[in-house]
Amino acid sequence: MIVTSFKPSKVELGKSLPDQVLGALRQVLPNKNKTYPLHEPEFSGREWEYVKNCIETGMVSSVGTYVDKFERMLEEFTGAKHAVAVVNGTAGLHIALKLAGVQAEDEVLVPALTFVASANAVTYCGASPHFVDSEEQTFGIDPDKLREYLRKNTKQHSGFCINRRTDKVIRAMLPMHTFGHPAKMEGLLKVARDFHIVLVEDAAEAIGSFYHGQHTGTFGLLGVLSFNGNKTITSGGGGSILTNDSALARRAKHLTTTSKLSHSWEYRHDEIGYNYRLPNINAALGCAQLEQLPCFLKAKQKLYGLYQKAFQGVSDVTLFSQPEKSRSNFWLQTLILKKHRDGELSTILKKLHEEKILARPAWIPMHQLAPFKKSSHMDLRTTESMANRILNLPSSPSLATKAL
Ligand SMILES: *Cc1c(COP(=O)(O)O)cnc(C)c1O
Repeated sequence: MIVTSFKPSKVELGKSLPDQVLGALRQVLPNKNKTYPLHEPEFSGREWEYVKNCIETGMVSSVGTYVDKFERMLEEFTGAKHAVAVVNGTAGLHIALKLAGVQAEDEVLVPALTFVASANAVTYCGASPHFVDSEEQTFGIDPDKLREYLRKNTKQHSGFCINRRTDKVIRAMLPMHTFGHPAKMEGLLKVARDFHIVLVEDAAEAIGSFYHGQHTGTFGLLGVLSFNGNKTITSGGGGSILTNDSALARRAKHLTTTSKLSHSWEYRHDEIGYNYRLPNINAALGCAQLEQLPCFLKAKQKLYGLYQKAFQGVSDVTLFSQPEKSRSNFWLQTLILKKHRDGELSTILKKLHEEKILARPAWIPMHQLAPFKKSSHMDLRTTESMANRILNLPSSPSLATKAL
């Protein structure tokens, strides 16, 4: 009798970390018959109305009013002087880097901890990514480590930053706001200024995130948002370039719409352009989603609170918390294992997937991917360590809208 009454607490104490994580998650995601994807879009506004309007009027493609409307709404929300809608975030990054002056043989500083699109876009300009380390507070580029690295490994030559080892110009840096959490922009802007490097922001994950009260994507010469299906709001596929520079905004519009000169019937293109225009039907969906963004942000903040409470008792993990002076959109909720033990992350992921909780690890760091094995990089120990310890949890706004 004594033994049986003693047993439960003993089992509780000896619970493995995967079981503890599952137990905590079940407090927030209680339905064992349900699949919980990482991030699901929610269409509870005027999506049908706007999309139907496109179909009824035949304006589904390159003509129609929703693209303009979407751009003006994005300007209003982000405070950027100009928003130029594009077919996806990757295309937006390509054009933003091109407009920042990135050209063949240049290098661009890119965090190794990012989605592959950041590095790919650099190669579309004929340039090479040069991978830099992130820090644990924001998951963004570490400004102090970067400054020290550039001081030791570059020289200034007629106003350009030159990589001593490759002799190439380091033209730009592309900080990314990881999982929606604003990177340390103050420090990064200073490094960019001191070393004569243009700053372009990959804010693909960060609509609705603010750093010192200013919207992410509006700090650099240009910034880029994404509205892919898994992001905080979606237009099916889509993105936007943000900039406060009117001439660059005009160039962005021109280049992304085949560089056609405006004329009633003539097809005259004055340079090689791109078909990166956002279709009207996607913009319509985007407008309806953007109307609901404040509501999604509230739900995501609420979900963060629920996870915080659930994981309070699990001592081997921390839930990623909002960086100081930042307001994160909490696109993805992140659990960080305090220690890296071989195979533990996979064991947890396997267990959660068996339970239909579709948590995901961070990306494989860029310098470990086949196409970038030969790219320049600094010491990346924090990135490598974090990649072994990060777990993104189901983060759909719908998980908390009921709890609002
Ligand atoms: C989603 C994403 C992109 C690309 O956006 P798409 O619209 O899917 O092309 C770029 N960078 C990062 C960091 C992203 O998460």
